[in-house]
Amino acid sequence: MAPPGHAEIAGAGFGGLVAAIGLADRGWTVRVHERRDVLHAEGYGIAIQDNMTRVFAALGILDEILAGGMEIERRDSLKGTGKVVLSLKTGLGRYRISRRHIVNLLARRAQKAGVEIVTGSTVVDATPDGHIVLEGGEICQADFVVAADGINSSLRGSLGMTARRVWQKEGGVRMVIPRLPEDIATDARDGTAMIEAWSNKRRILYCPNSPSEVYVILTCMERDTIARATPVDVAVWQQSFPTMGPLLERIARDTDWDECRWVRFQTIRLKRWSRGRVAILGDAAHAMPPYLGQGAGHAMMNGLGLAVAVDEAGDLASALDLWERRERPLTEHTQRWTRVYGATIFLPEWLKSLAINAEKHVPWLAAQYSRAAKHLPTGCETLPDL
Ligand SMILES: Cc1cc2nc3c(=O)[nH]c(=O)nc-3n(C[C@H](O)[C@H](O)[C@H](O)COP(=O)(O)OP(=O)(O)OC[C@H]3O[C@@H](n4cnc5c(N)ncnc54)[C@H](O)[C@@H]3O)c2cc1C
Repeated sequence: MAPPGHAEIAGAGFGGLVAAIGLADRGWTVRVHERRDVLHAEGYGIAIQDNMTRVFAALGILDEILAGGMEIERRDSLKGTGKVVLSLKTGLGRYRISRRHIVNLLARRAQKAGVEIVTGSTVVDATPDGHIVLEGGEICQADFVVAADGINSSLRGSLGMTARRVWQKEGGVRMVIPRLPEDIATDARDGTAMIEAWSNKRRILYCPNSPSEVYVILTCMERDTIARATPVDVAVWQQSFPTMGPLLERIARDTDWDECRWVRFQTIRLKRWSRGRVAILGDAAHAMPPYLGQGAGHAMMNGLGLAVAVDEAGDLASALDLWERRERPLTEHTQRWTRVYGATIFLPEWLKSLAINAEKHVPWLAAQYSRAAKHLPTGCETLPDL
């Protein structure tokens, strides 16, 4: 095992904070730089699947995390007409939780472990010999640098690590709206559901996110300029989803549109996940479209896996090799299969229903979609069964 040293981390998102906790728990001194003045401000929801609950359990914060979210009992897939094509129990992805709640708890856990988190601090460069450069020109020396600076990472570019950056043809806009008494009554009567409706090349996904909020994503093609305009045009979306008028009206009325913007999905692939003393983690290394709800899951699994590998191996270079060999194949599997799932949007309507139903009738396909959710993350092997 290499002796612990000092780590500098760029980005206080899911990946950066879990890596910080993992390293600090193993004796490292850690400083995390977050370019925003406050930690993750958005309340958008996130799907928490079994692999992520295991990571939270390994960090000792699972109960607190779940206390702020909602347990979802089933996922209903609908045609644009409102007809339910498939209804599945959400066995492996049972929770929807606000990002803000998760990031705040991770940050608190990191600070308890001794991690220093500096907000309003942008890392503009990192070098393979373990230096980072801050926006004001300050240079910090570390034994280990983690670039967890998200999908538009500037550090992976400055290290020359990008192998492929694919801008997908589609993207989405996320919002949070208040949960009404009638939503709560419906959930109490029929069970909490995540609703995913597909029509032409548009998709609406919504579900409760907390006792008082509903989380919504609208996805469409980049070239569908009228659908991706914000604030959302109710009439345009109602053409595709005629039975969802009331929900669309609420979205138009209750969303804080200053907080929302349509983002184009991307897939990122790197030549290597590390160079010298720098590891690249999370969306910065392996962003993926969100259809399988596993981007943050992989950021967190790989953050914990990184700390475990650094602890296990004799030196940093062997640790980074071990880490990439262990974690990369599953991450790339999920990148591939999230594209397959998302490709439903491109199918003609008659084929969409078949494709959606295939998840129930072709166990092999369902196994590809759920492989990450079923995975026992590195560092979670000794946990009791969840
Ligand atoms: C519409 C949509 C829905 C999604 N739904 C899900 C889901 O349900 N489940 C799921 O697991 N994933 C989901 N994802 C994916 C998930 O959001 C990402 O995979 C996840 O946020 C990646 O975590 P990260 O830590 O790598 O990056 P981020 O969460 O983006 O964190 C990066 C941090 O680095 C900071 N930063 C950036 N540059 C610098 C710099 N130069 N210096 C210092 N700090 C910097 C940023 O401010 C940010 O705080 C979704 C994504 C989208 C677009």
